[in-house]
Amino acid sequence: MSSLVTSSHTATPTPNVPLHPAASQGSAPASASGGATAMAASAAPTMTGVAPTMKSVLFYQPGDIRYEDIPTPKPGPGELLIRVRRALTCGTDLKAFRRGHPVLLKNLPSPFGHECTGEVVALGQGVDRFELGERVMVANSAPCGDCFYCHHDQPNLCDQLDLLNGAYAEYLKVPARIVEKNTLRLPPDVSDEAAAFCEPLSVCLRGIELCQISAGKRVLIIGIGAIGLLMARLAKLNGAQVVVLGRNALKRELADTFAQADAVVDVSSGIDAEAIKAAYTPEGIGFDVVIEAVGQPHTWQAALAMVRRGGLVNCFGGCESGTSIELDTRRLHYDEITLISPFHHTPRHVRHALAMIASGQLDPTPLITHRRPLSQVRQALRDVAEGQAVKVALYPDALFEATFFDEGPQQPAAVEG
Ligand SMILES: [Zn+2]
Ligand SMILES: [Zn+2]
Repeated sequence: MSSLVTSSHTATPTPNVPLHPAASQGSAPASASGGATAMAASAAPTMTGVAPTMKSVLFYQPGDIRYEDIPTPKPGPGELLIRVRRALTCGTDLKAFRRGHPVLLKNLPSPFGHECTGEVVALGQGVDRFELGERVMVANSAPCGDCFYCHHDQPNLCDQLDLLNGAYAEYLKVPARIVEKNTLRLPPDVSDEAAAFCEPLSVCLRGIELCQISAGKRVLIIGIGAIGLLMARLAKLNGAQVVVLGRNALKRELADTFAQADAVVDVSSGIDAEAIKAAYTPEGIGFDVVIEAVGQPHTWQAALAMVRRGGLVNCFGGCESGTSIELDTRRLHYDEITLISPFHHTPRHVRHALAMIASGQLDPTPLITHRRPLSQVRQALRDVAEGQAVKVALYPDALFEATFFDEGPQQPAAVEG
């Protein structure tokens, strides 16, 4: 039987988060003035202050990533080169590190990492939306706008997403389509670290939008990695009563302090679906919405067991290819369960994520439990794998030195795992 721990955040109604923020927020067009035009006139980009080689983390095969010197890429027409200021570890990177990734990491050795912010240091031919020195966040894909899915308002399923990797490096070359559609200038008061959350937050914003959560709904979140914690926080901001299930003590603490869940349940000895329903739903009928944020078939199955009749299950965590679950057809039909499994983000959600961070509506930075220089990427992934860390912020080594050892007062949350 799970131990049921109720936190103090009982049913504090919070105003609904607008799901469609003003389109102008976080996506203001670049000013027409400045040096971009002069740069764009030349075919060969000027790379002032950019070293010819850079440190980069390359993925060779599962379990084998290397921190190496490689030539600094030069931006071609429509492309940008950014100097990475902050990269974040992600559960997807961890999965890819352990077992490879046929879609994400196609040609080996492959650049690695996909959540980052940086500073524009070179402009490819024709780029006039950005200027040198601007801070930007770069999403890891952009839809083509031309395929069947793009034409049917499902750009997250675009046939040509071409996922971008290479955030774990000193410099990142941004492909033209992402420059055009999914690179956003950072407002001055948004930190590099907070803005690096735009990618995972945009995925969560889309995931929560599809759950149609309104004030007072009872929402259960299974799994409290960074994604589960963000989903729990978003559900709270939408006014739901949120119960969270997790095994890891550090993350359960964040479910309380960061997500402000109404109840945090320790399921380290397994999920007792009936006991959880009995404890947290009227007459044990089950939750209005259940969100699975683990990515395991057995937790998908558990999610289906804890939803009420007429409720919605969001299987949000992607499972390993080739796995399957059993569906009780009677329950699905006669109990009228809605089952969704949203994937990825759209440009609208990326903009919404930045607007939300910039407005202070959601500060994701408490999820960063550790900060490390890029050269310690392996240790960073190990800490996440072992549940010692939630998100690790990686700094190019020189920036890490300058931030924590040259300038004095600001100290890392925890440099040692
Ligand atoms: Zn990610
Ligand atoms: Zn497309």
